[in-house]
Amino acid sequence: MTAHHCDLHLHSALSPCADDDNTPNNLVGMASLNGLDVIALTDHNSCRNCRAAMRAGERMGVIVVPGMELTTAEEIHVVCLFPTADAAEAFGLFVEERMMKIPNRPEIFGRQRLMDEDDRETGELPWLLSAASEIGFEEVPAAVRTYGGVCMPAHVDRHANGVLAILGDLRADMGYVLGEVSRNAAKADYAARFPFLKFFQDSDAHFLWDVAEAGPDNLLTGEIASAAEAVALIGQK
Ligand SMILES: [Zn+2]
Ligand SMILES: [Zn+2]
Repeated sequence: MTAHHCDLHLHSALSPCADDDNTPNNLVGMASLNGLDVIALTDHNSCRNCRAAMRAGERMGVIVVPGMELTTAEEIHVVCLFPTADAAEAFGLFVEERMMKIPNRPEIFGRQRLMDEDDRETGELPWLLSAASEIGFEEVPAAVRTYGGVCMPAHVDRHANGVLAILGDLRADMGYVLGEVSRNAAKADYAARFPFLKFFQDSDAHFLWDVAEAGPDNLLTGEIASAAEAVALIGQK
């Protein structure tokens, strides 16, 4: 069994709050330098840079899982991960139909850069990606499953957009089997408190220097040669 070092929550320059230097190749390159071989690109409410990042990953030997950090109707963040770019993009369109298209104001919220696999800017997304969608927290697992994906409430330890701060609880009947804590949280404490969840610890990198380094807390053990195999392993009990 091979151990893979992963970081399943990274933002590219498409996320308004992320640094413009978080291009597909810079993210993959930083992951590779840090000893990671599986990463997920999870921009706010969009999968539109995933395909470029996956192609950049193929060139550098890093498996990029296409994903999204969805903002639910309750303003809870949920990391959603998909087996293929097609599945992620289809889910992306589903989400786009379920959010208010408030125009972005780049000078206030930041630019939302669409990029190709050579880090060329191909456009800017006009609607603000940090707005909430109309999708309820408890609707997410079934919706994501429709596209072959898996999902986890993001940074449950955090006050801002964390499920515990917003709903006050996280129960098995809400439909989740995975959970995520942020970098400095005590993962073991959350795993003990929520035994029905398998926890991951991710960087939520908005800057290149935030990308996780290979370590004991972010391991995936098994054979992974594709995003689909990574997603299967992530979802495994
Ligand atoms: Zn978040
Ligand atoms: Zn995030």
